[in-house]
Amino acid sequence: MSSQLMRALLLALLSTVIALPVGYFVAHWAGWTVFCLGLALQMAFHFRNFARLDRWSHNPVVDPSLEGEGAWDGIFGRLYRHEKDLREQIAERDHQIAMLFAAGQALTDGVVLLDTHNQILFCNSTAEDQLGLVIRTDRGQSVANIVRQPEFVAYLEESDFSRPLTMRTERKEDRVFSIHIIPYAGSRRLMQVKDVTQTERLDRMRRDFVANVSHELRTPLTVLAGFLETLQEFDVDREERNRYLEMMADQSKRMQSIVQDLLTLSSIESAPPPDNEPVDMASLLDKLHRDADGLSAGRHTIIVENDGHNDLRGSEPELVSAFGNLVANAVRYTPAGGKIRISWRASPQGGEFAVQDSGIGIEAKHIPRLTERFYRVDRGRSRDAGGTGLGLAIVKHSLNRHQAQLDIKSTPGVGSCFTAKFPASRVSSL
Ligand code: ADP
Repeated sequence: MSSQLMRALLLALLSTVIALPVGYFVAHWAGWTVFCLGLALQMAFHFRNFARLDRWSHNPVVDPSLEGEGAWDGIFGRLYRHEKDLREQIAERDHQIAMLFAAGQALTDGVVLLDTHNQILFCNSTAEDQLGLVIRTDRGQSVANIVRQPEFVAYLEESDFSRPLTMRTERKEDRVFSIHIIPYAGSRRLMQVKDVTQTERLDRMRRDFVANVSHELRTPLTVLAGFLETLQEFDVDREERNRYLEMMADQSKRMQSIVQDLLTLSSIESAPPPDNEPVDMASLLDKLHRDADGLSAGRHTIIVENDGHNDLRGSEPELVSAFGNLVANAVRYTPAGGKIRISWRASPQGGEFAVQDSGIGIEAKHIPRLTERFYRVDRGRSRDAGGTGLGLAIVKHSLNRHQAQLDIKSTPGVGSCFTAKFPASRVSSL
């Protein structure tokens, strides 16, 4: 028994002990009066504390001044400590939940928690954006009512979730999502939504690239094999034989160019960042001029302009290869009699290398795709001109590595202008 309770009993005993001699020596009624007064005082005391406890229980605030009297002090003290501990535990748990919630919101993958009936319990803001959910209004709704694609509904109904589902949503048709359902806590489900648009695009590019390379090499190989077979099986005269050999040499040169361009591309891709050494633009432009003259063989008027104030900083072989491709294209796609202007202008704000021609030009719809590997406006024309379809892909890669942008302006039948725009950091003053 606690000491407070003992004290309360002693007080009750005390009023009895006082009442007994009073009743015996004075009068019975006086004894009873003292006894009743003692009891009444004790009842009033307990009632007062009970009323305080009752009031507090309606609004149990953590109040250190909460103190009882006598036997009630211990009760109030324990209640105060219990309430305080409880509040601290709740605050700690609230903090942990808030941290978990913040971590869920910070995820770059979408996360949706579903109950056993596929009803939404929670989703983070990434999932809201990916799937068009609004947690405020969609909590408790079946996820199949919001994401209605048949393949998704069928996936939800499956029992085997070992593989994710890859799909586009109606809302974001340009994005590809990988949706993976992971069962947890019995039959609840966690739905993870990853944006795999980039991975899918790279995968498709890789597949297309392999298909394109095979296709590009197969044509000359087939021609070569055909001629070889003819030469082996038939007795052809010397003149015919020379003609075949010439065509075979053309095809093998074509294969060599393709392989050479592929090697250039792959070496650019795997090379470390380019140097930052100044490149002598005057001699680079001279070299481009000589190469253009050689390719053109006098069929075009070629002008070179250099404002002569600044050089470029970068890897000379890469820049020669990129600029050389632009010049070679200008010669290839400009009919005889046309004009080609090669220019370099630079200031401390940046530099521009441009190749302008008065050639066949390019329709606007092709321009965004020109730097894709093997993309050609006119396959036959490119092949006849000795193109591989990889020139502008090489240009784009080299320029990217020098933080430069390729700007293409063209009008069919009038001509094209390809401009490589370099940032100030790539310009060095003479
Ligand atoms: P290709 O080896 O076929 O020239 P590129 O990657 O260098 O490949 O160029 C891609 C396509 O862009 C070409 O096939 C051609 O259709 C077009 N093109 C490039 N440069 C020019 C230009 N100066 N004038 C017209 N068309 C061009």
